[in-house]
This record gives sequence, structure tokens and C-alpha cells, in this order.
Amino acid sequence: ADLAAMMNVPVNKVIGTCMNLGVMVSINQRLDAEIINMVAEEFGFKTEYESADVTEQIQEEEDDPKDLVQRPPVVTVMGHVDHGKTSLLDYIRKSNVIAGEAGGITQHIGAYNVKLPNGRRITFLDTPGHEAFTAMRARGAKVTDIVIVIVAADDAVMPQTVEALNHASAAGVPIVFAINKIDKPGANPDKIKEELANMNYLVEEWGGKYQSQDISAKKGTGVPELMEKVLLEADLLDLKANPNRKATGSIIESSLDKGRGYIATVLVDNGTLRKGDIVLAGTHYGKIKAMFNERNMPITEAGPSSPALILGLNGAPTAGDKFNVMDTDQEARQIANKREQLQRELGLRTQKRVTLEDIGRRRALGDFHELNVIVKGDVDGSIEALSDSLIKLSTPEVQVNVIHKAVGAITESDVILAAASDAYIIGFQVRPNADAKRTAQQEGVDIRIYSIIYDAIEEVKQAMEGMLAPEI
Ligand code: GDP
Repeated sequence: ADLAAMMNVPVNKVIGTCMNLGVMVSINQRLDAEIINMVAEEFGFKTEYESADVTEQIQEEEDDPKDLVQRPPVVTVMGHVDHGKTSLLDYIRKSNVIAGEAGGITQHIGAYNVKLPNGRRITFLDTPGHEAFTAMRARGAKVTDIVIVIVAADDAVMPQTVEALNHASAAGVPIVFAINKIDKPGANPDKIKEELANMNYLVEEWGGKYQSQDISAKKGTGVPELMEKVLLEADLLDLKANPNRKATGSIIESSLDKGRGYIATVLVDNGTLRKGDIVLAGTHYGKIKAMFNERNMPITEAGPSSPALILGLNGAPTAGDKFNVMDTDQEARQIANKREQLQRELGLRTQKRVTLEDIGRRRALGDFHELNVIVKGDVDGSIEALSDSLIKLSTPEVQVNVIHKAVGAITESDVILAAASDAYIIGFQVRPNADAKRTAQQEGVDIRIYSIIYDAIEEVKQAMEGMLAPEI
């Protein structure tokens, strides 16, 4: 009915057109974008979408530059398993709480903020690793300003180090290296730096652009210097926020607590969140009954880059959901309900991912300039050969980017990276594991398996020319 009104044609004609397209609809039915485009075309209209997000958009007021003040950087620690992510986060948590800041960080709420001896602050996400980082990004949340990639100096650059680097790079987040375990006999930081240089991550002391610090997360050696380097990177980013407005931010964690009801950790990215505020997050909402900081102390407000545990939501939002503060309970409920209805109708998928078939269509619409690909394969040689050939397919209109490549089966982490980066996945002589398959289905990520390099290249070539017929 809405579409008919917009085009000023009788509703039954729109319904008839839908039926001709093989879609049975009622007058109140919500149509997906694909159908709307086709129906509009039938009536000689062109569609234009105000937002790619099908969930309700909340208008955000622009900040006046004079209201902006410096805010602390938000940092995620990534790296290979056992290279010291947890140890580093623990060391910082325990050591850098300066006098005057009452209470130690006693509880894990998903993020914590520390004040350094120089008076400046840094917020750390307390769930290390690139998986959580990219899962949040897939939901549209950009919660990390800087990534610390940690590499053990008694080991080497490992597969998950590479993954971490590619996940951080795909997100466009600056990287600071921490070369860890330098207290261990046999530790060789230079060897790590050389390996990084071979991957085009040249550290600053060798004339490159990446800051790097040798540390011992266990003893604390070099950790203050690492913090300084993070702050230097933050200065380059010129991070600013306006504390004098309604808060916006992201959900970091949420759960149902036996005694307290639904609890959620939020990270404020702009504005100030206050006790009593009405918060809308995803399909949930509620009035903040109480707020706590990472030191388990009740607080009444949380400013930019501050984490806070909040009580009072009517459910558990998903990590990575954005939150807004609404003026009235009624408004929050309305939007939450509408989102829930949309989710039900469209399935969990709210964002359309790239598939090889729709590249031609999207190119015709003029909104497709980059094809992001993840390449997994059985041997390094073929992965390199395939990646090189794919990149060479780039044209002045469409740039082909291989955002991640590695030996091994297609994993859930690959799929989440694809979802977050609008990429598709090529498996050369490898297949997705069960988790990857399920997540790909949920997220609508296109996975293509090949056993001949030529086929993979040919298909991309055709897709870019808009010649690839949909698979039947
Ligand atoms: P994660 O898997 O990356 O979180 O790694 P952990 O922080 O759990 O560290 C793995 C192991 O390395 C643990 O046994 C730590 O005690 C040890 N470890 C971490 N950092 C250091 C360090 O700087 N020096 C030494 N000697 N051991 C470390």
C-alpha cells in the first residue's frame, strides 16, 4: 500500500505486479528491496534508498566542533593463542590504577578504563582476539580505535597473528605491535620484526610506519612505553566527542543475571549516559535503573569512551548492537517493536552481503567499486598464485582486494570477516567446516569452492563484467 501510494497507482496493480513476479502478497505486506526495485521498475520508477540499513534509523544530531573534547582511545589486543593477550590485559588492569581511583578492577564486564600515571586514560576491551572484534564489526559497530597485535618473541608470526593483522587492516584500524616475552631465554624480537617486515609491516625503528614495543607482559617491562605509543597513535587520530549530549554507543556484552535481571555492558562513544536514561539497543529497551563501573562501584553517569554496566533493559541485546538514548519510553518501545517485526519478516539477515551474481547489477547501479575476497586453500603456492591473478583483474572501475588469505579450511572467523567487510570467500581445494557453513548461511556470505585456479579467476572475471548467470 505504501509503495502504491508513493507511485500514485492503485494498490491492486502493485499486488498484481508482485503476483506476476511470483510473489503472493497482501496489502499490508512488507516487501524486500529486491521486489520493490522490480515493481518500481515495472511502473517506470527508479528507487533510491535513504539508508542501506533496513532497521529504523535514528536521526543523530551533528556536533558543533566547539563542543568536542578529547576522548580516550579504545583498544583491542589481538594475537596468536598463548602469545600473551590475557597476560597483557591483566598486567595493565592490575598495575595502572593510580592512587585516588578507588577500588581495583574486580569484575570482568567486557571493557575497562585505566588512568595512566600521566593522567591520560585508555579503554581496553577485555575480550581479546580478532573474532569478537570482527563479530561486532559485522553488526556495524566500530568500537575499536587502535589494535595492539601481540607476538611472542620466543615464537614466530603465526596463523592467528596473520589473521589478526588482516582483520585489523580490513577494518582500517591502526596497529601497534607488542613483541612479548622478552624476559624468556631464547626470545628474539628482531626475528619477529623481520618476519613482520617480510609481510610489509615495517616497524618504526627500522624506518617503517608501525610503532612497536618490546615487552614482558609477565614482568611489566616495556608496558608503560607501549601505553605511550598507543597514546601517540591516538593523538594522530585526534579522537573527539561531545559529552554534552544524549549518549550513543555499542553493546559490549549482555546477559541475564539471576538477581539483577538483564545486565549489559555498554561503551559510550559520544555523549554522556546517565542513570534514569531510556536506552534503546537493537530490539530491546528500558530505563537505566542502576549503573556500575568496572570497579563494581555505582555510578550516575558515563562519558565518551567509558564502559558501564547497566541494569534495566527488557532483554539481552547482541554484542555489537548500537544503543541510543530516547526521549520517551513510548518512542523506545515503538522502534524496538518495529525492529523486532522487521527481523521476524526478513529473517535475522538485515544486511545484504555481496554475491558474485549481484556484482553486475550493483555495478550498473554505480555503487560497486571494490570486490573484497578472502582466499583459503590447501597449499601456499596456489593461494599466492590465485590471489595475484585476482588482484590483476582489477579495472579502473572495480578494485579487487584480497583482504585475507591463508592455508586451511574455511572457518567461522573467515565468514565473520567476510560479513563485516562485504567480502566473499574462495576455497581452493578446501571446504568450510560445519560452524563456517552455518554462519555463512545465517549471514548470507557467498562461499565458492574450486579445484582449478582458472575456474575461480574466470568466474570473477565474468562476474565483474556482469555476465555471471545466477546459479540454479
Ligand atoms: P593468550 O592466549 O594470548 O591470552 O596468552 P596468555 O596471556 O594466556 O599467555 C600464555 C602463556 O604465556 C601463559 O602461561 C603466560 O604466563 C605466558 N606469558 C605471557 N606473557 C609472558 C611474558 O611476557 N613472559 C613469560 N615468560 N611468559 C609469558
